[in-house]
Formats: sequence, structure tokens, C-alpha cells
Amino acid sequence: MPNPFENALNQIKRAATVGDVSEDLLTLTSAPKREVRVAIPVRMDNGDLKIFEGYRVQHNDWRGPYKGGIRYHQDVDLDEVKALATWMTFKTAVAGIPMGGGKGGITVNPKDLSEGEKERLTRGWVRAMKGVIGEEIDVPAPDVNTRPVEMAWIADEHGHPGVVTGKPIEAGGSEGRGTATAQGGWYVLQTIAEQLGVKPGARIAVQGFGNAGRTFAKIASEAGMKVVAVSDSRGAIYAADGLDIAAVEAHKDATRAVSGFEGAQDMTNEEILAIDCDILVPAALENVLTEKNAADVKATVLVELANGPTTPAADDILFNAGVTVIPDILANAGGVTVSYFEWEQNMKDEKWTAEQVDEKLTKAMTDAANAVWERKEKYGTDMRRAAFLLALERLGEAQPNL
Ligand code: NAD
Repeated sequence: MPNPFENALNQIKRAATVGDVSEDLLTLTSAPKREVRVAIPVRMDNGDLKIFEGYRVQHNDWRGPYKGGIRYHQDVDLDEVKALATWMTFKTAVAGIPMGGGKGGITVNPKDLSEGEKERLTRGWVRAMKGVIGEEIDVPAPDVNTRPVEMAWIADEHGHPGVVTGKPIEAGGSEGRGTATAQGGWYVLQTIAEQLGVKPGARIAVQGFGNAGRTFAKIASEAGMKVVAVSDSRGAIYAADGLDIAAVEAHKDATRAVSGFEGAQDMTNEEILAIDCDILVPAALENVLTEKNAADVKATVLVELANGPTTPAADDILFNAGVTVIPDILANAGGVTVSYFEWEQNMKDEKWTAEQVDEKLTKAMTDAANAVWERKEKYGTDMRRAAFLLALERLGEAQPNL
């Protein structure tokens, strides 16, 4: 399995080869400022005491407090968290919000835990991160397998709502945060749809049916696009004429899987990547498109709602095949953008309406997509390098004198 942190460093270097980036900037943005690893003791429901491993990586804070989600997954390790933290620095810069980049995680399969165990684990992570996170220092948010309720526990344990975003509305959350990642990706796609030749009835396949993927499938189908395939960790489903997404959601809620949906064909997660469609949306985990399967992609546009789904080797194959990859640091930046709006509301003790949030998100995503597209044209390169170059420009402006 490719190392995601190596991939992230590679992406920065590859961007620098086509633009004008100083050696100092390259060196500084390639090294996370701080890596914290903690042991979290949790009393399990059966009385046993178990130790879990937790992380927080603070990559860069030149443009504002560290910002980035916390992931609960059995494969979480330091290199993954370092990669995700690095991407956050570039993402907040692309989105044009005054935040830096960080990320956290706990190595655990939360499906094995009761709600009480999850709460004790989450509160334990906060206690272990005392002095590391804080509303003016480092502000976590949801990621894979963490929900608004975990964010509420984090805020409660810490004591200030501004320490974390993605909270339930009644615990200081913002309107629009739950759907922001997918909605932002949708606005980015709309902004450059004409250049990409994306038509209103385009066929879409979505890998991952959680916060990002499920919401995107819903938005796209409601807008008249044909979602032909979706998947989750247990498998994929396909229907050439398009899936009824509301019915798939009800099926997933009832059975906890998309597989077995009536009228659709079951397939594997690997197969969905090579399906005949116009737009492929990886919305699960890293390294799903590699040099082994990139040539099988039939879509002409990739919208990376997941972080790091495409390895640099796969990027080259896709680029040479004429596939446009809308990179994660642009495509999924809507999540952190509305997280920033939530933080701003908490810090100013304000409440914005859903319309206000949506208006600001639309502007942020449209501006970011246009700015990346301009650099792509200027440098004659792909959108990933263009997005990294845009972020490097903005980081360069904030770089301290050494
Ligand atoms: P989630 O936990 O809500 O959903 C993850 C989904 O992926 C689930 O449906 C799960 O079943 C599925 N999945 C897991 N392993 C899979 C596999 N091997 N094949 C297919 N599906 C698999 O998580 P999420 O918040 O939707 O995050 C998904 C991706 O989006 C991650 O890469 C995350 O970093 C990224 N992202 C999320 C946010 C956010 O605000 N939640 C913001 C930016 C980026």
C-alpha cells in the first residue's frame, strides 16, 4: 500500500516543478510542525481496561489556527494522520480561509464499541490532548466514523464550543455543516462544468456512502444527474438506468448496507471504480486509485470527495488518458469552509441562517474553483498541481522570516 504521507510530499514536489516555488517554502511546507501520539485508557463495558492509540498532527499554522478532522478507523497510523494534516494546510489555503492544517485520529474500529465506550474514548482523547487543541490553537472536526455527537462530547469535555466544529446545531453547530463537504464539491463541479463538458444528465458513480458520498449522491440525483452506482465498506450496487437515491438511503438505514437493494446489481468496491459512467466520485478512503487500476477508469471526470484517493502514479495515468481529476484539496474543501464559518460564529457568539451559510459557501467554492482553473491554464498543468500552486502562493505570502 502506498504511504499516504509520501504521496502528499510527492504532490507538493510535483506542483513545484511546474511553478515558481522557493526551496525554503517547499522545505517548510513538507514538514509537519508537531506530531502528538497519546495512549488513551478506556474502561470497557465488561470492566476490562483497554489502551487505545490516539494522534494529533499539527502541520502548519501560518494562516490561522490548525484545523482538521479526527478519524476513528482500525487502519489509522501516524503516516496517515501526517498526510491528512498536510492536505488540510493546502486545503484551507485553496479555500481562502484563515486557518492552518491539522488532523487527528484514533486507531479503533468504532463498530466494535458501544456508544458509552465511544464517549469515554472521545473524552479520553480530549483529556490526553490538553494544551494541544484549543479554540485559538487547533480546532478538530468530523472525519471518517466521527459524527456530530463526538464533536459535542469534545466541546463538552474541553469547555468551549469553539474548540471543535461539526457539532449538532443545539450544541453550537452551524447550519449547513452536515452537508457542506458534498455541497461544496457540487458547487466546484458546477463552476467548471462547462469547461469539463459535464451535462445535466451525466452518469455518476460514488464510492462511499457516508457523510460525503451519500450527501453528494442525493444532491446530484435531485439536480437531475443519474447516479448509476454507489458503494460502502460492505459492497457496491449498480443500475444502468440510475438508482432511486432516497430509496437506497432507506435501504441503507434499515440494513446498514447498500448491497441487496432491489432492482440493482450487486458488485464489488473494486468494480465500481471501472464502471461505465461520466463522473466518478471516490468518497471513502485513500489509495483506491493506483497504477494497478487507474487505466480501467471510464469516467472523464473524477471528483475527489475523499482525501488522497488517487496516488501520484495513478494521477499520471489518468492525466494521459484525458481524465480531469478535481483534487481533494479543492473538491472536498466545503467541509472545512463551513467548519470555519461555525468557528467564526462560536467566537463571535453569532448564529447565521442556512441561507447566509449557503451564500458564503457558494462564493468560497466558486472563487476557489475559478482560481485553480486559472492556474491550470496559466501553467498548462493538471488541476492537482494547479491547486497546490495556488495554496503555495498563499502560504508563501504568510511565510514567516527565518
Ligand atoms: P463516513 O464515515 O461518514 O463515511 C465513510 C463511508 O466510506 C462509509 O459509507 C463507509 O462504509 C465507506 N467505506 C469505508 N471503507 C470503504 C471501502 N473500502 N470501500 C468503499 N466504501 C468504504 O466518512 P466521511 O466523513 O464521509 O468521509 C469520507 C471521505 O471524505 C474521507 O476521505 C474523509 O477524509 C473525506 N472528507 C470528509 C469530510 C467531512 O466533512 N466529513 C470533509 C472533507 C473530506
